[in-house]
Amino acid sequence: MDLSLTPSQLEIQKMARDFAQKRVAPMAREMDERGEMPVSLAREMGDLGLLGGSLPKTYGGGQWDAVSLALCYEELGRADSSVRGFMTVHTSLVSQCILTWGTEEQKRQYLPKLARGGWIGCYCLTEPNAGSDAASMESTAIEDGDGFVLSGEKIWITNGGFADLAVVFASRDRSARHKGICAFLVETDTPGFQREKMPGKELGHRASDHAHIRFENCRVPRSALLGEAGGGFKVAMSALDYGRLGVAAGAVGVAQACLDACIEFARTRRQFGQRIGDFEMIQSVIADMAADVDAARLLVYRAAWMKDRGQKVTRETSIAKLFATEAAARAASEAVLLHGGRGYSNEYPVERYYRDIKGLQIYEGTSHIQRIVIARDLIGRES
Ligand SMILES: Cc1cc2nc3c(=O)[nH]c(=O)nc-3n(C[C@H](O)[C@H](O)[C@H](O)COP(=O)(O)OP(=O)(O)OC[C@H]3O[C@@H](n4cnc5c(N)ncnc54)[C@H](O)[C@@H]3O)c2cc1C
Repeated sequence: MDLSLTPSQLEIQKMARDFAQKRVAPMAREMDERGEMPVSLAREMGDLGLLGGSLPKTYGGGQWDAVSLALCYEELGRADSSVRGFMTVHTSLVSQCILTWGTEEQKRQYLPKLARGGWIGCYCLTEPNAGSDAASMESTAIEDGDGFVLSGEKIWITNGGFADLAVVFASRDRSARHKGICAFLVETDTPGFQREKMPGKELGHRASDHAHIRFENCRVPRSALLGEAGGGFKVAMSALDYGRLGVAAGAVGVAQACLDACIEFARTRRQFGQRIGDFEMIQSVIADMAADVDAARLLVYRAAWMKDRGQKVTRETSIAKLFATEAAARAASEAVLLHGGRGYSNEYPVERYYRDIKGLQIYEGTSHIQRIVIARDLIGRES
């Protein structure tokens, strides 16, 4: 077994680390306070090749493997979860989804723009009455002549306020549950596509753009269908296989950032006449955190490596997301405590990690839902 990274993976990791540490980390606190990520940062990511890296060269991509993409998410997650979240939605939920399910015409029309960051994507699945139970969605797609009319609403849509293209899920037959769902590529300037900021002040991911989107008689042509009519649930779930790996890798980055901060603080903060890092209780916290980071990272690499070998990775991806997000939540909680009063203020970044990590445990399937996916895959369904 060879766990080392290839020269090309190391190069991509270095490029992502340089960008994350030099461009993102220094502005993370300010973005969190202001409640937004500058659009120019998205363009910069496009110019660097981060947004299209995983796409084939034919569509303006870099032909990266899944391990390389995971390395990028880890580096961005280490700097800021809002920026990593922006990229995961844009790249893994939208671009990868079009690459997997789109017609040649759809790929040529959208992927080069998405790869450059000239267009931004969002993924519209969650509704007020359909979250974990996505198949119970109430949004409808009524066939009308040579197209469909979309009606309904979506909430919590990351990048939804400024996206140019939305992957939208709606049902053409609600009685058929998941078999009635269709996926569509909707340009956000289509009449009837309405968006506003989500209400309320959010716990974390404060620099992310989260929108409430309404479809009011939003007419799209038949060519906007992504995949087959009635095959939208499969499209949604396959996109989540990509997205969840991105969230898991981002969580490894958060856990690593907590560990980095704790090591630095344990070396410099003195109490009772010595470094707090010389107290065994503090050493125990740091050692457990380091073990969690290593285990989470290995689970992410395993799922990405299997994906690169063309294997089915739904269970391994859910295991990686479950473990990595829970490990990072433990790390963030311990990191705040280890920093004492300083950890309670945004003078130190651990406070932001602690708030942000709850989002990673919730979106793209909560930890409860990951456990269901894992257990069902192991036990199987009764025939
Ligand atoms: C920061 C953020 C960004 C997001 N971005 C997007 C986005 O870009 N696009 C998008 O479509 N959505 C997005 N979401 C929505 C997210 O995917 C949902 O919030 C998530 O799937 C959970 O759905 P819900 O909030 O409706 O909770 P619910 O489904 O109502 O769940 C409530 C609780 O019940 C538990 N639960 C539900 N069913 C079961 C079960 N069968 N067994 C055990 N427990 C269960 C859940 O785990 C949870 O603890 C985002 C959410 C957040 C917080």
